[in-house]
Amino acid sequence: MDSKPQYIEVAVPIPVFNTFTYKIDNNLTDIVSVGKRVLVPFGQRIITGYILGPSKKETRKNIKLILDILDDKPLFPDSMLPFLRWIADYYIYPIGEVIKHALPGGLNIYDSALLRITEKGRLVLLNNSITPIENIILNQLEKAPFSCKDLEKKLNINVPRFLISKIEKHGWIIKKRVIKGGTTKPKFERYIKLAENQSATNEGSSRTKKSATREKIIDVLKIRGSLSVKELKETVSFAPATVKSMEKDGDVIIFKKSIYRDPFGEKIQDDIHFELTDEQNKVVSTVLDFYGKGYAAFLLAGVTGSGKTEVYMRLAEEILKNSLSVLILVPEIALISQTEQRFRARFKNKIALLHSGLTPGEKYDQWLRIINGDVKIVIGARSAIFAPFTNLGLIIVDEEHDTSYKQNGSLNYNARDLAIVRAKLNNCIALLGSATPSIQSYYNTTTNKYFKTTLTKRVEQRQLPEIIIVDLRNNKDVKGAKRFISQKLYNEMEKTLEHGKQVLLFLNQRGFASHPVCAACGEPLKCRDCSITLTLHNKENVYKCHYCGFSSPATAHCSVCGSKSIKLLGMGTEKVEAAVKALFPKAKVARMDHDTTIRKGSIFKILKGLKNRTTDILIGTQMVAKGHDFPHITLVGIICADTSLNFPDFRAGERTFQLIAQVAGRAGRGNTSGKVILQTYNPDHFSILTASNQDYDTFYKQEIEFRKMLNYPPFSRMIQLKISGKDKNKTRQHAFYIGKACNELEKKEPFKKQMEVLGPIESPVYMIAKKYRWQILLKGLSVKSLNQFIKQLLFKNRSKFDAKDVKIIIDVDPFFMM
Ligand code: ADP
Ligand code: ZN
Ligand code: ZN
Repeated sequence: MDSKPQYIEVAVPIPVFNTFTYKIDNNLTDIVSVGKRVLVPFGQRIITGYILGPSKKETRKNIKLILDILDDKPLFPDSMLPFLRWIADYYIYPIGEVIKHALPGGLNIYDSALLRITEKGRLVLLNNSITPIENIILNQLEKAPFSCKDLEKKLNINVPRFLISKIEKHGWIIKKRVIKGGTTKPKFERYIKLAENQSATNEGSSRTKKSATREKIIDVLKIRGSLSVKELKETVSFAPATVKSMEKDGDVIIFKKSIYRDPFGEKIQDDIHFELTDEQNKVVSTVLDFYGKGYAAFLLAGVTGSGKTEVYMRLAEEILKNSLSVLILVPEIALISQTEQRFRARFKNKIALLHSGLTPGEKYDQWLRIINGDVKIVIGARSAIFAPFTNLGLIIVDEEHDTSYKQNGSLNYNARDLAIVRAKLNNCIALLGSATPSIQSYYNTTTNKYFKTTLTKRVEQRQLPEIIIVDLRNNKDVKGAKRFISQKLYNEMEKTLEHGKQVLLFLNQRGFASHPVCAACGEPLKCRDCSITLTLHNKENVYKCHYCGFSSPATAHCSVCGSKSIKLLGMGTEKVEAAVKALFPKAKVARMDHDTTIRKGSIFKILKGLKNRTTDILIGTQMVAKGHDFPHITLVGIICADTSLNFPDFRAGERTFQLIAQVAGRAGRGNTSGKVILQTYNPDHFSILTASNQDYDTFYKQEIEFRKMLNYPPFSRMIQLKISGKDKNKTRQHAFYIGKACNELEKKEPFKKQMEVLGPIESPVYMIAKKYRWQILLKGLSVKSLNQFIKQLLFKNRSKFDAKDVKIIIDVDPFFMM
């Protein structure tokens, strides 16, 4: 803020929709700025808020003073504020909560700048020309440096931050920020090179003969220039013991070099600067044509293995040349690391990472590097959309169709959509990439909202895999494992293993038996707290609920008739694993699903097995379907393509197409072409047929007709109200109460005939974790009018809208309709 404001606008992270005006004490005006946290009195409490900017001159009398400013530097740049405000408005979410959500967690651990007295400070302390409180503080700091908090504890007084900042300004103390634990430190390795005047001078030196080891080392260094001592050891095994004395003699120089390791703990390989294919070239130049001319959005529809990542990197290079920054969103951690490896090899330390696998300390550390302008590229998951860049040139969303960009919880934002918004507000370019674009994004290219670019071929003339459909209905009478591993799939697996290649098996259901049923009365075994069938997990020997985590021992009886005899219908990855081990006893088998990847780092272990080819067969859920690039997988088996088909969700067809096409895309990415065996009970379903032909265009044409006919997005917009509570009746009543309010408002201008209110209905999963669930779906042509509708509903009836013990969540552009 330029001028010294007297009043500021503050957002607080509580469920209120307005912001608040506070007065600033003269002492603090100098350090006020947007994006810093403040301590403010709020009702009877004192809470942390965020400075949004100066407030207009207030005429009201009893404006309260802010108590303190908590940050030396803003936590987000003020250029981000319009973005944050947009989110609050669009998702109908309190701005203070939006900001809290956007900022890295664990900020409070870092309020510990160490205060250290300076020489000047010592002098004034001697001169006694200072106030008593200054005297007390300096006196204490004279003994040792303290953090502000510890100083308060030690002295047992309040030490206002403005006073500290005043003392600091006088130059009596300096502040040093310390981050307690969890910072991402660069790793160093010992490197070695020849000393410049080494060989010539040494020939005739007093030392008569060099040992063989020394000679060898010198030979290696002559060829390689410099290399790490570790690498040297691989060719000259005694090297580590010898290099020290060689250094002493002035033969070599040993130095430290920061290195990067991939998540497998190996050193990042050297960058390969491929010559771009003609198609890649065209995409790059099309996008760059728009660069510097303000906002533009592109969809990059590029088949699996067409080299989208290389396109991203070329574009990033160009943007960096103009000292702007690049933000890259990737759907999940395992893929972030793959993208990171490639970017790291090219851009070295210009990269920061933001994802949920980091500790709060590491996250904050990365955050600071971005704010300080130390990094120009951020690679991250959904939440990285909030990266505090001031000068973005390009936002990339890889695998833009992926549903994990949609947050499912309180602030239900979609990072893919926000990428477009942020690009617009920042006047920069957005690039959404996918082999299986979402219907929404593809539709946007037909209405000229996005420009369409394509990569139709795999690099190096590699072929897309051949896909063979196996009709599981013909397999009905087969018994045992071969009931779900058909003869055809079995034969292909055998052939693939014989050739020393790898197999990927995909089934979107974890556990052993997904549908245990009482043999006596036919009732499915259900969760105690949810309206969900339990899944048997053999390894842990329990039945588990995949919604709430409830588990009961595998000896459970039928809760209806008490019978002990349970039939294990339905299958999951665990059962497939058991079957595969029985059928291929010599093969090395691994499984990747939620159950095997809970522990940190376990995903990388599994992927490392694939990479090093210590795994022959990998079985997994949708985790294995996403963007991985493993060149030795030549066979993909889709155990049952139908699992996502029958969901009560208008996107079921879209998801099924995407899953099949994506998992198929994992095959044949190396020099040997790939094959996919697709097993299904619905071989004629158009999602499955088009996916098996890798025919996105035909799929799109049919799907978009269906959406149009039923007036689903992208032809309409939706907001879902999710109503849940512990009391069955109360929840139901409240759902109907809100439903009635909706029906009344719907008839009034300006909403009349603009929208439909569907429901209230009980949610398809009507109970989760002991909470009853209802939903109301609002459907309309314009999201603006839906937004207005909710706001009127909310703000006009606020007190009635909120009920005790019943919670309402507003989900704008809902994805998970269950
Ligand atoms: P996609 O993301 O489109 O599935 P990738 O970006 O993973 O494809 O690229 C597939 C493989 O092709 C990678 O191993 C990549 O290094 C390689 N590649 C990319 N561009 C080229 C190129 N121009 N020439 C040769 N190989 C390339
Ligand atoms: Zn029973
Ligand atoms: Zn449950």
